[in-house]
Amino acid sequence: MQKVTLTFDNGPEPEVTPRVLDILARRGLLTTFFVIGQKLLDPERMDLAKRARKEGHRIGNHTFTHSTPLGQMDDTAAAVSELEKTDALVAKTGETEKLFRPFGGGGKLGPHLLNPQVVAFLKRNAYSCVLWNAIPRDWADPDGWVDRALEQIASRNHTLMVLHDLPTGAMEHLEDFLDRAESAGVEFHNDFPLDCVPMVGGKDMVPLAPYISATA
Ligand SMILES: [Zn+2]
Repeated sequence: MQKVTLTFDNGPEPEVTPRVLDILARRGLLTTFFVIGQKLLDPERMDLAKRARKEGHRIGNHTFTHSTPLGQMDDTAAAVSELEKTDALVAKTGETEKLFRPFGGGGKLGPHLLNPQVVAFLKRNAYSCVLWNAIPRDWADPDGWVDRALEQIASRNHTLMVLHDLPTGAMEHLEDFLDRAESAGVEFHNDFPLDCVPMVGGKDMVPLAPYISATA
C-alpha cells in the first residue's frame, strides 16, 4: 500500500485555491499549503489561507518573495527576513504549528536551500523544516504531470509530493489525479515521511549540512 502526503506550494491564488479546497473537502483530504508571505498581504489571499486553516489544512511558511533560494542570497539578514515576515503573516491565519519549506529553484535539494543565519532562526522559533521527495513539475507541464506523479508514487512507500495551487492549468487535472491514485490503491495521509523532515520543532533529526550554504 502506497502512502501519499500532498502539499500545495506558492499560493494562495483566488483563481485556483478555492477549487482545490473544494475538491479536498469533498474527498475529506487534509494537506499542507506552503504559502508565499507577500501574497498574504492581499486580503483576498489572506482569507483563502484562513479558509484552508479552518478546513483543517496546515499552513506553512514558504518565504516572503520566493525569489532566490535563501542559501544563495548574499544579504543574510534579508534571507532571515524572508522567514520572519512570512512567520507573522502565517500566524494571522490561525496556524500555530511552525512549518517551513525552503524554496529550491525548480525543486532541487542541496546546500542552496539554507544558510547558517536561517538555520539559527528556525531553531530559535522551533520550526520543522519540511522538504519533499516527489516533484511532478506540474507548473512546467500542466497537462502531463499526472502520469509522472503516479509513477513517482509507485516508486516509494511514502511520497511527499509538491504540487502548486497556481493558475497554470495544472490543477484542472487534480480530480483526475486523485481518482487515478485512489483506484491504484493509494492512501492519502497528512503526516510527513521522516526522511523529508531534517528538523523537527527546532531540533536536528539528521545532519542539516547538506542543505546549508557555506557563506556566513
Ligand atoms: Zn515554491
